[in-house]
Amino acid sequence: MPNTILVGAQWGDEGKGKVIDVLTSQADVIVRYQGGSNAGHTVITGGKKYVLHLIPSGILHPGKQCVIGNGAVMDPLDLIKEIESLRAQGIEPSGRLFISTRTHMVMQWHRALDAADEARRSSDKKIGTTGRGIGPAYGAKVGRSGLRVGDLLSPDFLGEVKAATESTNAILTSWGAPTLDVQSLVDIYRQAAITLKPYIADTVAYVNEADRAGKSILLEGAQGTMLDIDFGTYPFVTSSNPTSGGACTGSGLPPRRIDRVVGVIKCYTTRVGAGPFPTELTDATGEQLRQKGGEFGATTGRPRRCGWFDAVVGRYAAMVNGVDFWAMTKLDVLDDQPVIKICTAYERDDGVRYETFPSDLSVLARCKPVYEEMPGWMTPTSQTTRYEDLPLKARAYVERLVALIGGRLGILSVGPARETTLRMGL
Ligand code: GDP
Repeated sequence: MPNTILVGAQWGDEGKGKVIDVLTSQADVIVRYQGGSNAGHTVITGGKKYVLHLIPSGILHPGKQCVIGNGAVMDPLDLIKEIESLRAQGIEPSGRLFISTRTHMVMQWHRALDAADEARRSSDKKIGTTGRGIGPAYGAKVGRSGLRVGDLLSPDFLGEVKAATESTNAILTSWGAPTLDVQSLVDIYRQAAITLKPYIADTVAYVNEADRAGKSILLEGAQGTMLDIDFGTYPFVTSSNPTSGGACTGSGLPPRRIDRVVGVIKCYTTRVGAGPFPTELTDATGEQLRQKGGEFGATTGRPRRCGWFDAVVGRYAAMVNGVDFWAMTKLDVLDDQPVIKICTAYERDDGVRYETFPSDLSVLARCKPVYEEMPGWMTPTSQTTRYEDLPLKARAYVERLVALIGGRLGILSVGPARETTLRMGL
């Protein structure tokens, strides 16, 4: 398989887990290049359900090597839990899972700061973070005060833990938030460093050596384009770059070694947490999509906001990521909609039309989606195994979406199981 970047094209939860699983079967090395354990990939295979947070789902495939890249942030305690839960399901990560020495760590004090900061914000200023410390950990990275995975091997590590906990406690006290117990954190991280030591590696050298040896590399992103710290709906975004550029900076594999970009996009739109969402449906149709699509967070169980497909978002994602192929998911969720709307552009209250996503949220707040309508197919699709066998109206819908956003269709998913994945050129 050519070296491939896989990105989410919307606000995350596009069903990347399943598409990654399909592409993984053709890859040798799978790299998670950004984000933390706030994301969740759900993979259903052989009748078993696995929810992975930070470890690439490639770990479910025997013989595949998995890397947590330097662009990700890793909570040692979460990762240990994830390793243990895989073991309990009969999967042994040891010898196949490598964590970059350069990956920054999410520590308990980042979590405490995350929760306390979100609690301090007025209701219109809340980011809607998952409270897992991801933002403060990336903040520490950029502020050059973070701890990296390589530091777990340093004799100074526990001293750093003590100092950081004490200085965080001073901040928490000034905010009136509960403080952390220094000694118990020192004890917890002493043990964590021992447990994780066998997985620590120079993954930049590892990934590039694998590439030179002709292995195929799959770089998987978490979240999605509209949550990108640079290209998303700032400040209602994640703290890293899920877009394709982030795959290079987050892994150390240079751009010239990337052969193609696959964008995963749902046949409608969802978003978790606060922030703009032009095609949101707050009515019974939105609720139908939520129930039928199981639109509840894999990690947090939070209900997702649901709405019609937004081709402005799709076009923007195609542009920012350079999408070559689309993997479209969850077509079956629209099976019982008599009429389906597609947003083709936005129109501002003074009549100005937007074909591309505005960066200014105050502009976005004045915009309404311009819709076109298509007839629904009113037929179950989730047993379909060949694209040609789909109802004509379902194919017309999919083809209209691709025409609106550009690129080629590579995968169409019509159900949660691995088997319900129609492959066209991917
Ligand atoms: P991710 O965050 O993008 O990786 O999204 P998840 O992997 O958490 O996927 C969201 C949910 O959608 C999971 O429960 C999947 O099993 C489910 N899913 C994926 N593709 C399809 C599909 O084509 N149809 C239906 N009905 N569910 C799907």
